[in-house]
Amino acid sequence: MEKIKEITKGKAKSLFTTSDDNQLVMHFSDDTSAFDGKKKEALLGKGTVNNQFNAFIMDHLEKNGVETHHIEVLNNNDSLVHKLDMFPIECVIRNRASGSICRRLGTEDGLILENPLFEFFLKDDDLGDPLINDEHIISFGWANKEQIIQMKELTYKVNTILRELFINSNLILVDFKVEFGVSAEGKILLADEFTPDGCRLWDSETLKKMDKDRFREGLGDVVESYHQVADRLGMNIIVD
Ligand code: C5P
Repeated sequence: MEKIKEITKGKAKSLFTTSDDNQLVMHFSDDTSAFDGKKKEALLGKGTVNNQFNAFIMDHLEKNGVETHHIEVLNNNDSLVHKLDMFPIECVIRNRASGSICRRLGTEDGLILENPLFEFFLKDDDLGDPLINDEHIISFGWANKEQIIQMKELTYKVNTILRELFINSNLILVDFKVEFGVSAEGKILLADEFTPDGCRLWDSETLKKMDKDRFREGLGDVVESYHQVADRLGMNIIVD
């Protein structure tokens, strides 16, 4: 499937139209950004590892009953996906406190939460992706009640499936962000990506950070860590 026209250019990915109106190509680039685009860098080989990492996770979720937009990997940096009508919302689950919740609530980094904590954020870089709740979503018409319930249920399901996958590879899934959209058939599908760019993964013994916090905090070896996570999960990442 050929890429025809770029329709959205995100911070690390772009979407292209194809000859099929219901399918898009998702291109994973080496560009990396943090703090709402204030810190930016190209990390050689990140797009390639993320494209294949994402495919592995999406396939695993599909096998475990979560429907996703992923169709197939096309080449090192491109995957074919179903075109969706996206909710302008990010769904986050935290198993431990880290990142923004520590700043918001003054919580200790790494605190194990009594229960996985679900949070909605509005996708808006200019506003710094503010925390929102169900009431905001309904009042502003970003999704309806039934869609909110489904997005929450699916995100909790993703957490249960992936927590187990990662812990079996000696990795703690601290938290993650996912996004959803509605397909041409009217189904809510998991969209966007699941890679170490959008989750926190810590070594279960040393608590070493193996995810994008290495970039955010200037710890180095970002792409190397993503490869180490992929190796632990038994992925066979093909590089140029
Ligand atoms: O920044 P915060 O602590 O709220 O992030 C929670 C989780 O969501 C982290 O794993 C982070 O990488 C991810 N996230 C993301 N994209 C955003 C915001 C957060 O992937 N725009």
